[in-house]
Amino acid sequence: MLKGKTAIVTGSTSGIGLGIARALAGAGARVMLNGLGDPAEIEALRAGMARSAGVEVGFQEADMRHSEEIALLVSQTARRWGSVDILVNNAGIQHVAPLEDFPEARWDDILAVNLSSAFHAMRHALPLMRRNNWGRIINIASAHGLVASAHKAAYVAAKHGIVGLTKVVALETAQTGITCNAICPGWVLTPLVQKQIDALAAQEGLSPQAAKQRLLLEKQPSGEFATPEEIGALAVFLCSPAANQMRGANLSVDGGWTAQ
Ligand code: NAD
Repeated sequence: MLKGKTAIVTGSTSGIGLGIARALAGAGARVMLNGLGDPAEIEALRAGMARSAGVEVGFQEADMRHSEEIALLVSQTARRWGSVDILVNNAGIQHVAPLEDFPEARWDDILAVNLSSAFHAMRHALPLMRRNNWGRIINIASAHGLVASAHKAAYVAAKHGIVGLTKVVALETAQTGITCNAICPGWVLTPLVQKQIDALAAQEGLSPQAAKQRLLLEKQPSGEFATPEEIGALAVFLCSPAANQMRGANLSVDGGWTAQ
């Protein structure tokens, strides 16, 4: 379905971004991976994805805190493959602390990676999409884009911000073949969440399994994690013609978290 299309997935060396990149490659798109990590492991991921999907897969290590590196990620992808058709703004980081103790540097980094990077990437990718009158922008927000939790000031602010930003871009592209939507996952078991499970286990003296259950059941009525594969399948659906008129939506994949 996506043969001939070019996708960038930010923060795709791990977790949800990796699941989305695999799903897009599986649907035939060329994929530019991005993110941090061990170069040898990333090269193994890149080569494995290219081999199993039979598509071209690249990697560019742009730090999403820096606008000039984001500009290069978009321009070099377009130079290599002709355009950028699908942009998934997924890179994200977390820090958990009461507001009075929240380190300023962590606030700045979270706002930069989880919110401003999407602004910069869209600003550079939109003109390329307009040239072909086709594009798909998928912003990975969160249940925390719709409701809050204590001790997550920067994350909740950034995720509410990206839900709003998604709507603005959807309106600015409403009469084109470019759509912009947000996916709002609940808990997905990735390294970002594993750190929070480990912290809860240490803080409350819980076993790893008990901490996992406590974290899940506090928010997610299904008692089950969503998976990167499920989020990837939704991203592929958003790239399909069936989603042509989905614009500015925030799609929850959260086991009922925000239904409460
Ligand atoms: P993860 O830690 O597994 O992956 C994060 C990715 O972002 C990695 O590839 C990492 O290298 C990359 N990254 C981090 N800082 C970066 C930077 N400065 N520049 C470039 N890349 C950077 O986390 P995840 O859980 O897969 O999270 C992915 C997205 O999904 C995030 O936006 C997160 O907020 C969102 N999300 C996650 C959950 C969840 O439960 N895991 C729930 C809702 C939303």
